[in-house]
Amino acid sequence: MPEIIRAHERTTFKRCRRAWDFGARSRRNYEPLMPAKAFDLERAVHDALALWYFPGMWEWDRTLVRGFAMEGFHKSMRKQFDAYAAVADVSEAQDEEWQAQVEAGVRLLERYFAWAPGVDAFSPVRVDTDFDANVPDPTTMGLDLVAPGGGPIHYQGRVDALVVDAYDAYWVMDHRLVVGGEWANLNQLLLDEQAIAACWAWEIFYYGMKIAGTIHNELHLDAPETPDQAPKMGVPAPEPEADAPPYDVVGRRRLYMEAVRIPDERVKVTGNEAFRRTRITRTRAELAACGRQVADEALEMTSQGLIVYPSPSVANCAPCPYRDPCIALNMGTDEQAILEAEYRNRGPEEIVEGRLGGVTWSMNRGARPPKFG
Ligand code: SF4
Repeated sequence: MPEIIRAHERTTFKRCRRAWDFGARSRRNYEPLMPAKAFDLERAVHDALALWYFPGMWEWDRTLVRGFAMEGFHKSMRKQFDAYAAVADVSEAQDEEWQAQVEAGVRLLERYFAWAPGVDAFSPVRVDTDFDANVPDPTTMGLDLVAPGGGPIHYQGRVDALVVDAYDAYWVMDHRLVVGGEWANLNQLLLDEQAIAACWAWEIFYYGMKIAGTIHNELHLDAPETPDQAPKMGVPAPEPEADAPPYDVVGRRRLYMEAVRIPDERVKVTGNEAFRRTRITRTRAELAACGRQVADEALEMTSQGLIVYPSPSVANCAPCPYRDPCIALNMGTDEQAILEAEYRNRGPEEIVEGRLGGVTWSMNRGARPPKFG
């Protein structure tokens, strides 16, 4: 049996082993019966961007695609809210908040769809797509890592988009919604281990492909509106960089191209008050170090002698969905009764249409875009 290390579970493991033990699919596999939030605006923005950057529609009239993306956003918000209403009472305040967030999301996306075509100097190859990489053994070249139980170890995750630029260099793109606060700190992006691990894993998943780096695409929900960011229809087509070779977006969708050039600069930041793009080249040494770290952590996570302990802190515990059973464990009372009353076991993972192992449509010209709702 393969051992699966999921990107988000690896993050949880390093934050708090006890929270990971409650929720990880390979551990106790519990999730709360009641969702923590009635809806997730960021999820709906991601769904809209997955349609905006859908490779099969990349050469379509952007005005038309904008309509599909907006429809995807509305469907996602509605679907999430309906799912919450199916298991919880919706208050008037929650309903008003949902309406306000739908309006805020629409304003943000209108501005983004007016801005992005002028700066999207790339062609999307995949959107919102999963990867599954066998973890190599860092001590023995050419061999995969073997878990203490004897099976292989897979590292799985998802990237918001894989894009190729005018020089045939591939980039992993990550969309982030900034709410209330500041842009992400540059060091935070340089150290973003999920993004670096995604680059490392994609090169194993698509053998022979080289990833040049990451593009962190931030959308600021609370940025003040300025006249030059006002929504406008009939936006111009993407322009290549001044010295870029001819921009053949259709041909560029295929995988396994070799980059003509990878930028020398480590970091390039572009954008305005509402949107910020941070492009970071990732070195071979950086990806190799990430691979060794994933292997070390994978061996620890799958070890039969693993010690599970809590790591309480305000930052860890405030968003944690397992506070009640955690406190019960601390007090020596029966956490299992709480888990059975307020949580559910997810059971085996389902293959979702369009996800890894479940792709039923082409991503190329004429392809059917994903549906939300
Ligand atoms: S409440 Fe805090 S210590 Fe307990 S499982 Fe959650 S994150 Fe860990």
